[in-house]
Amino acid sequence: MRDGEQTPGVSLPPEKKLAIASHLSDIGVHVIEVGSAAASVGERESIRLISQAGLSAECCTYVRAVRQDIDFAAEFGADSVHLVVPVSDLHIEKKLRKTRAEVCTMAWNAVEYAKERGLIVELSGEDASRADQVFLQDIFREGVERGADRLCFCDTVGLLTPERAVEIIPPLAFAPLSIHCHDDLGFALANTVAALKAGASCAHVTVNGLGERAGNTALEELVMALHVLYGVDTGIETESLYSLSALVSRLTGVPLATNKPIVGEMAFTHESGIHAHGIMRDTSTYEPIRPELVGRKRRIVLGKHSGSAAVEAALQEMGYHPVGDQLGEILARIKQLGDMGKRITDADIMAIADAVIGLEFAPAISLRQFTIVSGSNTVPTASVTLLVHGAEITDASTGAGPVDAAIRALQKSVADVGDVRLEEYHVDAITGGTDALVDVTVKLSKDGKIITSRGARADIIMASVEAVIAGMNRLLREEHEDRSENTD
Ligand code: MN
Repeated sequence: MRDGEQTPGVSLPPEKKLAIASHLSDIGVHVIEVGSAAASVGERESIRLISQAGLSAECCTYVRAVRQDIDFAAEFGADSVHLVVPVSDLHIEKKLRKTRAEVCTMAWNAVEYAKERGLIVELSGEDASRADQVFLQDIFREGVERGADRLCFCDTVGLLTPERAVEIIPPLAFAPLSIHCHDDLGFALANTVAALKAGASCAHVTVNGLGERAGNTALEELVMALHVLYGVDTGIETESLYSLSALVSRLTGVPLATNKPIVGEMAFTHESGIHAHGIMRDTSTYEPIRPELVGRKRRIVLGKHSGSAAVEAALQEMGYHPVGDQLGEILARIKQLGDMGKRITDADIMAIADAVIGLEFAPAISLRQFTIVSGSNTVPTASVTLLVHGAEITDASTGAGPVDAAIRALQKSVADVGDVRLEEYHVDAITGGTDALVDVTVKLSKDGKIITSRGARADIIMASVEAVIAGMNRLLREEHEDRSENTD
């Protein structure tokens, strides 16, 4: 959680860190680097919270070779410290402006001090892959003599290769050794596996491969690679990997690439008509790992070649029962997305079905025409023509942005029917990309009655207009039904 949180833009408050730490501990992670004790008050609070939570995992914190950092680690209850010292000449001279001898003294004194404070010590060489390996062995060997319990080799900028790992790891493995890799060249997983094979016994990883720049070795990838390819049981509960990944993605706000191994949206998805046939006969034809093994499900998605039977079957499976023209309209929208080169996911289908099935057959309000003007020297202006109870009404409005202008124009055109207010507006892009399906949810109110409705289109403004018109129709229909109830 320390290096993972160093992802640009990510910052987790203590309670979110506790949620992630509990999940990590529950699935069998052995050591959790909770944060950096010196970084902030919030970080120290996180260390206290997590160290007191009774987790079975060891609670570790990042420290520099500085007494204050080590004091914080001890005072806030950490079990261990990840004590990091730069070991390449580049880092020693350019970053620290010190000599090798000074760095050695700092490191060894810090090890002794941390042991005095009762901490487990993992002495870690920063930028170790660019260090003089003889110097690295010396600083590590003396570090162990002064009391370090473990060592760590950091490939801080991702320049290691598996071949080099095989050469330089064995001379360092005289004490329990961790390997810490970055993915700048996409080698993090391969380097980690090579180092483990060469004598390292512990791997530093992050969930979803989060971390500075291109990130670190991904927990889920390493666990599954060791399990599937090398027959090594890490003791991690693989069935919980996906829920962990989803939790971390949600709490950090960092979305996953759709094609990310193990946890990406497409990792166990097959497009109907391509390999789906083989998968149906024997899943191992195109599936290297059973999705259930990592807590996922296989998905067959629809595309532009899908027929109405396939769409109807998919809808039934998701609990939708379209009637009348609804199936035709859902199919048309799916094909429209498919023609734009998009793969249609379950979430897309559900959003489309919700929007289409929520539409009225004989709506009180329907859209005749809609225009939006927006740009750098133009006030966003929307004009709209609606059919309201059979009468054509045209109105226009400006707004803060095109969506605002569109919604204001709609509100003005139905002003005669009633005062429809927009209480809430929420938008989600369902899959990645600017041409993705957009799911708009609005909360509308009229005379104290509140309803929620949705619109789903690739065009955000049309999705908003659709959501508002669907909502207005429901408000009017329910009003009508209320009235007939009252006269009974
Ligand atoms: Mn790192």
